[in-house]
Amino acid sequence: MMSMKCAICGRPATTFCIRCRRPICNNCLDRTWYLCKECASLKWELEADYHRRLNYIKALYSFIKDKSREEQCKDCIILRELLIDLLKSVKGILYEAEKEGFSEVVSRAKGLESNISQLLLRILVSQGIAIFDQGQSKS
Ligand SMILES: [Zn+2]
Ligand SMILES: [Zn+2]
Repeated sequence: MMSMKCAICGRPATTFCIRCRRPICNNCLDRTWYLCKECASLKWELEADYHRRLNYIKALYSFIKDKSREEQCKDCIILRELLIDLLKSVKGILYEAEKEGFSEVVSRAKGLESNISQLLLRILVSQGIAIFDQGQSKS
């Protein structure tokens, strides 16, 4: 096979980026993702975005948790609806992050999913609601 030049820096290429398929050299390879530097930067940016979204969900979860202890709020339907919404968001992130291979995002999302589920269950029980979302049953 004839020698190819790295599409980024022009040095002799040693492999191909599995995303953009361009020839790349060792220097321009991101070993975490086995992508060229340019494709990998998108991946890192996406991962950071998931973390930002989880930070926001976590803050909202803490807020709801505090509110749920207040006498005038504990029977509030809005808290319940907000939590159900948060749970859906976390499940969505979990699903996407698993596909993307973002293991740190996955483990954070799993922790949040479990916390939110527990709080939701407690609120549902205290509000006297026996039915439960079918999305709850997972491994
Ligand atoms: Zn290069
Ligand atoms: Zn690439």
